[in-house]
Amino acid sequence: MINETEILKSLANVKDPETGNDLASSGAVKGIRVSGDQVSFSLELGLQAGQARDQLKENARQAVLALPGVKSVNITVISKSPAAQRAAAAERTPTEERILKVKNVIPVASGKGGVGKSTVSANLAVTLAKLGFRVGLMDADVYGPSIPTLMGVHEPPKQQGEGKIAPHSRFGVKMISIGFFLPKGEAVIWRGPMLHKTVDQFLGSVDWGELDYLIVDLPPGTGDIQLSLCQKIPLSGAVIVSTPQDLAFEVAEKAISMFQKLNTPILGLIENMSGFVCKKCGSHEDVFGEGGAKRHAESRGIPFLGSIPLATELRIASDQGTPLVDQAPDSPGGKAFFDIAKNLLAELTERSEGKYSDTKQYPKEVRQVEKDSIEIAWKDGHESRYKAFALRLACPCAMCVDENTGKRLIREQSVRSDVYLLSMDRVGRYGIAFRWSDRHSTGIYTFEYLKSLCDCQACKSNTNLKSEKMHGIAR
Ligand code: ADP
Repeated sequence: MINETEILKSLANVKDPETGNDLASSGAVKGIRVSGDQVSFSLELGLQAGQARDQLKENARQAVLALPGVKSVNITVISKSPAAQRAAAAERTPTEERILKVKNVIPVASGKGGVGKSTVSANLAVTLAKLGFRVGLMDADVYGPSIPTLMGVHEPPKQQGEGKIAPHSRFGVKMISIGFFLPKGEAVIWRGPMLHKTVDQFLGSVDWGELDYLIVDLPPGTGDIQLSLCQKIPLSGAVIVSTPQDLAFEVAEKAISMFQKLNTPILGLIENMSGFVCKKCGSHEDVFGEGGAKRHAESRGIPFLGSIPLATELRIASDQGTPLVDQAPDSPGGKAFFDIAKNLLAELTERSEGKYSDTKQYPKEVRQVEKDSIEIAWKDGHESRYKAFALRLACPCAMCVDENTGKRLIREQSVRSDVYLLSMDRVGRYGIAFRWSDRHSTGIYTFEYLKSLCDCQACKSNTNLKSEKMHGIAR
């Protein structure tokens, strides 16, 4: 009989050349699963170059294959790089500093409510925990927090010293929800600043400890919470949930477009409620159409992570406060979540291995070269120089540009020609906020916008009045 101890023992003979530690004692092995003569697990590795990584994976495979009774070994390599990237970041916001021990923050979003976003968040979190990862679940759906019901926990969490909150833990998942703090049935009527503060507190004041994945259940749509989260910390990427209908995807597309605008990668789309199989007669019915979300994802070049069937047992398990993946992991719905989690892990790994080169659009360094000039060195090697006056005039905030017509409201005469930069802050993964000597500070210049404003000869001949038309995102 093959068991976890034997597998770990065999992996104790395989050394990671980067750290010098063996794979078993370093904790790199996660989520061992044995099914007959097949073994599968994940390896969480550092930043080795491709070849060393492939070699290590092969060594691990051979070690486990040598065990009597093992016929096949399936290994998924997971990279530590998102955390390493954050650790290496030159400037970090206080919130980022506090959640440095969280390796991947992954929001789960949808265009509209009722598509099963919270159900997916909870089950995905529990699945990842079952695969051996350290997982947190943050319920940021302030308008309809359902994580307490889904996870079967209702009482407020305990306060620790120094204003810290100890999160609840159930099914191997640490969790926090605004629902723990509200009397049942009470509506939340909060404005932007309060919402920003809640996100800040949930990220910074909750004692998450070391986490591999923090799954964030977002409210539906494209509001303040989404913006706040993207601004406060670099996210590993967002997961979008949609039902199969064309109409549902059209709304989900708005959420996708928002994340793309905020330079947050889309890790993939999950189709929920796709097809109903009658338990009594076994007939199959596509209540909401067939494969719509999958088709749309493919046509937009977004990874498709998998579909979850419309299943009465999923709804009942959710209402009972026991996620289906815990109650019935081998049910069609339970299996669907395991497949989705594996696809998500694979996507994260491919991204960390440079599948996409979108980070080339990021600035490597932003410096003030003279009092009236700012220079940006981009990761793709390009250098842009801006006159402070021109950059101030190009402010994209709602005070400077009419949000509906795109017409510039700010006039040249209203800005002093000797205006200069007082300070600047990086905003999430997507932009920079400048504070000017005339005290103006409300504009967020997205990286894309800044690139379009570049004054160098090469860029100028390449522009097509893009900069005139583009809107930034006002604070
Ligand atoms: P959202 O977070 O998008 O508003 P929820 O996760 O709260 O949606 O789900 C809405 C309702 O649909 C809940 O009652 C939930 O149990 C049910 N539900 C979600 N996904 C499924 C599914 N695949 N099969 C059956 N019921 C589902």
